[in-house]
Amino acid sequence: MIGHSRTTTLFQRCSAALQRGSYYLFPGRCVLCSALSKRPLDLCEGCEAELHLNQPACQCCALPMNSTGSTLINSVTCGKCIANPPAFTHCIAPLRYEFPINKLINGFKHHAQFSRGTVLAELLLCELTSQEILPELILSVPLHWRRQFTRGFNQAQWLSHYLGQRLAIPVDTRLLSRQKYTPAQQGLPRKQRLKNLKGAFRLNNDIKGKHIALVDDVVTTGSTTAELSQLLRKAGAKEVEIWCLARTPLEK
Ligand SMILES: [Zn+2]
Ligand SMILES: [Zn+2]
Repeated sequence: MIGHSRTTTLFQRCSAALQRGSYYLFPGRCVLCSALSKRPLDLCEGCEAELHLNQPACQCCALPMNSTGSTLINSVTCGKCIANPPAFTHCIAPLRYEFPINKLINGFKHHAQFSRGTVLAELLLCELTSQEILPELILSVPLHWRRQFTRGFNQAQWLSHYLGQRLAIPVDTRLLSRQKYTPAQQGLPRKQRLKNLKGAFRLNNDIKGKHIALVDDVVTTGSTTAELSQLLRKAGAKEVEIWCLARTPLEK
């Protein structure tokens, strides 16, 4: 499989060394408890240890699963993915959308707290760098211009640029656009969600044969990422994978 090979340039090595050195000069504070983090990441080791990692989870869509009674915790596929396999190959979601991750994500998304965004992106990167083959292009889930205007920025776009720069993978945040203003999808019945998303997105360039990573901040119902992956695969993408910060557990 042809994918993006990981090479480290001198610039990347230097910037990594500078980054490592800078925290001695400008010690960072933990974004959760405000204590001195004492490391390059603004998250102390104590708070990191308490984060809810998304394990076990569906190996395809990363839906959080219950560990009780399951011995095959690393190779579980949820019923939804078995019954209706999605157009993406897998979803990487290192964390569960629960306290305190929801607090960090909301600060990043709704209050433009980029120190939080950086910590979250670095946690996602830890997971991504263990992948053997990385995609050759990063795309982000687009926001409708009205929502982007009121929020001031697109959090998925910001994440894409951050990850693209750290992994040396090209990013195209204009390739996908949202032409339909859709209400928040959470809490709506599946049928309604799918109806809202019909024709909501547009592809603005050729992606034939490409291995793509589609980035979003949180995958909730999975309808948006499923719809976009389908659009990309239909247009000839060789492979689509989803990268997100966190995955929401099923609503009770
Ligand atoms: Zn802390
Ligand atoms: Zn699944």
